[in-house]
Amino acid sequence: MNRRNFLTTATAASIAAALSGCNESNRQAIDDSKRHELKSADPKRVNINKNRKTVLKLATSWPAHFPIMGTGVEKFVQRVKDISSGSLEIKLYPKNTLVPALAVFDACSSGQIDAFHSGPYYWKGKNSAFALYSGTPFGFTAEEINSWMLFGGGLELWREQYAKYNLYPFMGGNTNIQMGGWFRKPINSLEDMKGLKMRMPGLGGEVFSKMGVNPILLPAGEIYTALERGVIDATEWVGPALDIKMGFYKVAPYYYSGWHEPGSILEVTFNKYSFEKLSFEHQAIIEVASSEMNSNMTSEFHAENIYALKKLKELDIQILQYPKDVINEGKKALNEVIQELSAKNSDFEKVYASMEAHLKLSKEWSDVSLNYFLNER
Ligand code: CA
Repeated sequence: MNRRNFLTTATAASIAAALSGCNESNRQAIDDSKRHELKSADPKRVNINKNRKTVLKLATSWPAHFPIMGTGVEKFVQRVKDISSGSLEIKLYPKNTLVPALAVFDACSSGQIDAFHSGPYYWKGKNSAFALYSGTPFGFTAEEINSWMLFGGGLELWREQYAKYNLYPFMGGNTNIQMGGWFRKPINSLEDMKGLKMRMPGLGGEVFSKMGVNPILLPAGEIYTALERGVIDATEWVGPALDIKMGFYKVAPYYYSGWHEPGSILEVTFNKYSFEKLSFEHQAIIEVASSEMNSNMTSEFHAENIYALKKLKELDIQILQYPKDVINEGKKALNEVIQELSAKNSDFEKVYASMEAHLKLSKEWSDVSLNYFLNER
């Protein structure tokens, strides 16, 4: 079996299942026994890529060559070109070169672009459930959210809800666990959090708001100056790998471990019509290359974080943990946010119920395996 046939066979079933809108779970969709019978007679299996080049436009929410997220997408585009022998070319448009950073969802939905790379929590204004596809405070780790997405029904829910916007999402990376943020002064109790102005987006921002923090949204380019001048008292960003490049340690040297974004998913999402028009071979290449991007970006974040943490320690930066009363209040606030959003939006309620069921079991497994091991090694 050559590589092209293998790629097609391995993924045709899952793509066909997803595109047909059937209710099969993803676990069934990648069942080996179903791969051959499906689509074996479909004319699209014939190699129609020969002598034909397809070009797609993909816009991102990151600047050109932005570390890990931006460079990861560049590698994805190159891989698609290589695996397709140049028959599928994805033209990359970094933020603001074709559409503004946070307009990529609408531009893709309308067909102005064929695809985008961004993060699902940016679209919570369209549907609060979309924030959940990036994860929740105190929720899934990267490994756990991948397991929910691929084998716990998450990807199916995500595709069902994005289909209403004519979009077809894939996982496209994960920041891995994020740090809690940089503070100008140490936090000794919940009282010290009250009234703080902190850059904190997403569901984390809503949780912090209930805890008495004043969450501020600022573009990346303005955070350092705001922190330096005391316009804000604290900021979260990502983790050591990207935080160190922002220089926050120079003006807010108290660095806290995090719980608000334990494994945030990034997405590579296609216009559904653009994707369906592709040959099965090109669809399969995108599925395989996005899976590689998802896995490699997660690993790269981990690797870059460990190198950057070493540098931060050499700079004598204090790495601290939130006091217990902050953690307890955070969990209480999260429950309130979940209840409020579930009451307002049945999509949110449905997605959160699926996540919660998976997380409950996952915690039990993680307690007897990973927690034990990490404490003992
Ligand atoms: Ca963040």
